[in-house]
Amino acid sequence: MEKHHGIKLDTEKMIIGIDDTDSNEGMCTTYLGALLLEELQEYGTVEALPLLVRLNPTIPYKTRGNAAVALKLKTDCPEKVIAHVTSRIGELARMECEKTNPGAVFILEKDYETLKPVLMSFLEEAVKEVIEIDNAKDLISELGIASKSFKNGRGIIGALAACGAMLNPEKWDCTFEYLAYRQKEKWGTQRDVDKDSFFEADRETYPETWDTVDLTNRLVVCVPRSGDPVLFGIRGENPEIVSKAAALIRAEPVERFAVYRTNQGTDMHLLPAQNIAEIRDMHSYRLEGTVSTAPKTIEGGHVIFAVLDREGDEIDCAAFEPTKNFRYLIRKLVPGDRVILSGSVTSGTLNIEKIELKALTPVYREENPKCPECGKHMKSAGQGQGFRCKKCGTMSLSKVKYEAERDLEPGLYEVPPCARRHLAKPLARDKRQDIRLHPAR
Ligand code: ATP
Repeated sequence: MEKHHGIKLDTEKMIIGIDDTDSNEGMCTTYLGALLLEELQEYGTVEALPLLVRLNPTIPYKTRGNAAVALKLKTDCPEKVIAHVTSRIGELARMECEKTNPGAVFILEKDYETLKPVLMSFLEEAVKEVIEIDNAKDLISELGIASKSFKNGRGIIGALAACGAMLNPEKWDCTFEYLAYRQKEKWGTQRDVDKDSFFEADRETYPETWDTVDLTNRLVVCVPRSGDPVLFGIRGENPEIVSKAAALIRAEPVERFAVYRTNQGTDMHLLPAQNIAEIRDMHSYRLEGTVSTAPKTIEGGHVIFAVLDREGDEIDCAAFEPTKNFRYLIRKLVPGDRVILSGSVTSGTLNIEKIELKALTPVYREENPKCPECGKHMKSAGQGQGFRCKKCGTMSLSKVKYEAERDLEPGLYEVPPCARRHLAKPLARDKRQDIRLHPAR
């Protein structure tokens, strides 16, 4: 564990950032955040809604959704708060898991102004780039930030980023999530929920809430399947609407809940790509290009095609099997279509989250000529002898070329709710009038 870097702890307000406490088998950093929200009342008052920030979705160290949490508190005993948070991480984090490397960061009010811009940049970087642990450690010692790290301490990356979000609430687009947690004795067992109630809640509150259910695939998507404490999470535009939807859910008893302010559903992870040459693995982009190979379905049901930029570089783009019905749309693309894609790049392939069909290339087909007398298609009159109408005896020499109808409309399309990335902005939130939106439901 690290020391407090000799800081004199005499401030009244503080921000606490926490990350990397969970494993695939259990726990969830947001649950620890919800617990601490209650427990820290003993040492002061909670000042703002807790934050749940989603960071770079391609990071291999993540357990699930690469989340980190921040809390803001008014207290006259910050050292007790630090001791309490540290001991609760020690008790609750899944230390036995190799991937669990908790970190906590404590920002004191006297440092808010100095740290605001630095940690805003750090947040941007944590959402879009890949950060080395040593960079986070160097920043902590250079700036004299109080921190605690466990094992390799990777969690301080997310913890610092979450503090950056709390210090700069006006600098990033936000949404809200109502997270309901299960009673401890139920953890690891099947969740007892009334599925219909989620469809009802969606009917009452969509599009101000989203990703509660997937109507096309008839799935409840806001109830996790893993062993963690989350019963369900309702995402939406404001705290009132997510609470309204949550009140409509019928399910097993809820131990506690928390409404988090979050960067989910904001597209904060996307970098504008000027060209394909600049694209790197483990980053997410918005990229404009032209479809250059016909979509092909490979083993596993994934649909792959290539996109070409103005410099002549190509990248493979994929609608993977979990994107379900979205693949039907992708299969209709043809070389020459102009598209703008959003998605993350891993192993040199862009995993599509959204696609804008900007311009559809005309597709030509050939058919036998029609008889000018009866209007029916003529039949071949034999090799090299043109076409003839059997009934009227009319003749024509060659086939007729025509522009086929594309069973596709320009506009912006997205993967269905069951395949949505946490950070991807759903079209339900997109208020643009200049483009035809095709929200997935
Ligand atoms: P859950 O969603 O259940 O909270 P998780 O998916 O958030 O789990 P973590 O356990 O938080 O996964 O693991 C992610 C780890 O990656 C953390 O240690 C975090 O500090 C680190 N990390 C986050 N963003 C970056 C980044 N951009 N570069 C390098 N490391 C990062």
